[in-house]
Amino acid sequence: MEKIKVLVVEDERKILELLRLYLQKEGYETYTATDGEMALSLFAQVKPDLVILDLMLPRVDGLEVCRRLRQSSQVPLIMVTAKDEEVDKVIGLSLGADDYLTKPFSPRELMARVKALLRRSRLWSATLEEEIEAGPLRMSVARREVFVGEKPVNLTALEFDLLACLARSPGRVFSRDQLLGLVWGENYVGDPRVVDVHIGNLRKKVQADCGIAWLIRTVRDVGYKFQADA
Ligand code: CA
Repeated sequence: MEKIKVLVVEDERKILELLRLYLQKEGYETYTATDGEMALSLFAQVKPDLVILDLMLPRVDGLEVCRRLRQSSQVPLIMVTAKDEEVDKVIGLSLGADDYLTKPFSPRELMARVKALLRRSRLWSATLEEEIEAGPLRMSVARREVFVGEKPVNLTALEFDLLACLARSPGRVFSRDQLLGLVWGENYVGDPRVVDVHIGNLRKKVQADCGIAWLIRTVRDVGYKFQADA
């Protein structure tokens, strides 16, 4: 069986070495880059299954690397930052990272996040044939295409899965914890706020591309639901 490839981008050698050891111990084929430029060229060569990306990097920084990767790739991506305030910045910029982790973190926690993200993308490939239709929304899981009305919407892999999860059961209210379990995976150990962040990004994109703002409703004190009619 082919090994799962993970690209780690980190300019602090000690952390990089530690992560490499942990990832290899877990059976991943591990590639490392110490600056943003190297990360982009290695990404193009290796086509990794997952990327762990430090925010502060020499040459091209992590934000720019993330932005450029997202232009052509839906690869699962975990952003690593040195401070909580940076997490807010990253979230605010809606760059399409699937998960965030603040330093210092335990390698064990990172491995759990890696597993959860990979599990999610495997679940996705198991439902390839599926077509979802609800109200003005059409989704082709095989082609990773989303249309609202006749207009295409460009989403990251995680946003796609989140929308698919809600749209499979129009009107049903999902709590944040349910969405974490269904979309991020049962073993996800992160902050439930990530759900709000990705719902926010999803809404912004649907509205920007199609002008429709009512598809995903917030149900106060409970969670979110997909609404098929205005
Ligand atoms: Ca750094």
